Amino acid sequence: MTHSAEHAAIVIRGARIIDPSIGRDEVADVAIVDGVIAGAARVSARAHVVSADGWILCPGLIDIHVHLREPGQTHKETIKTGTAAACAGGFTFVACMPNTAPPLDHPDAVRLVLELSRNAGHCTVGPIATITQGRAGREVVDFAALLQAGAIAFSDDGDGVEDDKVMRTAFEQAATHDTLLIQHCEYKEISAGGVMHAGSVARRLGFPGLDPRSEEAMIERDIDLCRKTGGRYHVAHISTAKAIDLVRTAKADDLPVSAEVCAHHLLLTDEACADANPNTKMHPPLRPNNDVDACRSALLDGTIDCIVTDHAPHTREEKSVGFLKAPPGIVGLETSVGVCAEAMIRSGLADWSALIKWMTDGPARVIRRQPVTTDVDVPAELTLIDPTATWTVDAERFVSKGRCSPFDGMNLTGLPVGTVRGRRLYMRPAAGS
Ligand SMILES: [Zn+2]
Repeated sequence: MTHSAEHAAIVIRGARIIDPSIGRDEVADVAIVDGVIAGAARVSARAHVVSADGWILCPGLIDIHVHLREPGQTHKETIKTGTAAACAGGFTFVACMPNTAPPLDHPDAVRLVLELSRNAGHCTVGPIATITQGRAGREVVDFAALLQAGAIAFSDDGDGVEDDKVMRTAFEQAATHDTLLIQHCEYKEISAGGVMHAGSVARRLGFPGLDPRSEEAMIERDIDLCRKTGGRYHVAHISTAKAIDLVRTAKADDLPVSAEVCAHHLLLTDEACADANPNTKMHPPLRPNNDVDACRSALLDGTIDCIVTDHAPHTREEKSVGFLKAPPGIVGLETSVGVCAEAMIRSGLADWSALIKWMTDGPARVIRRQPVTTDVDVPAELTLIDPTATWTVDAERFVSKGRCSPFDGMNLTGLPVGTVRGRRLYMRPAAGS
């Protein structure tokens, strides 16, 4: 990427440092020497200086639900373009989903993703392996071999694991290896070809509705298995009030259960589907107001641990076949900060410190990654945000190959302007440095 360069010494001057993991919130200078956060006294006169007055400096943002599409679907996205989009969106770490072609069900595939992402150099990637061979839902993978290769968790995302016996074996494996299962909660016989939330908008359009029970019933089954086996369990893209109640109860019972919510489920309701724009089609679908409110409240009370994008690029051709036939999924890496700020901060519900926690410390704890901090002697992994920048989303200018965004044309406030990873500094074009 042309706007990124390596520097032996970097000084970020005058930013408001918000670091929820260590309770830090102050205006100060931060120096990075040889890729490590250093005391200001060690900085040479030749350091690269970033003037960050009015900006926020925080630990690098983390997104644990991203589809990078490689191997096999590089017409939609590549590891290079996807991680570049993540960097432009302020993320320094993303976990990628294994529904590629072939799926990440073999150690070699996991190693390939790690190698391609290291070569791309835009952000750190943690590959998620499949739960079952070929994502077919019949036979669990070799957990030990995949963990050895570098898998950070397991998921058949795109599909839920429906078979009770298979899922029970997966839970036992997760418990044995002390690793995490991430479930895309959907029973296909209940969702039964639904294309949008089964509600007034679907009825008005005459479109098949997607029954929220398909999500809730699988969470119920899984929490029961979690209780019996002790395997760690994470609900992907939770979207209904009832589903959230199930997680809330499980947490009250001290079960190893966590949950994530997508940025779009915090801001949009199924009314956004009213004009049948395929860029508002995703699984789980946009829900009514009471579910959106429940998602927001669940972040505030800690039932939901973190925010993700479920960045799921498709080509314009794939998406331009009408709402009924278009594949579900939207891009989100480059709009997440602005969308979350709109939903949680500009709505008056939370402040930047809380939002940053849901995008750094929260997801790090779910995947048991060492939380990144702004402390000295720590390898630099930092994000710069201009909290007052007002901008208009222009999908044509996305770094991602994907253009399918329900936020295209929307005005947002809050823009990631740079990231630091070790010696590498990326600055958004025209953001100054
Ligand atoms: Zn999913």
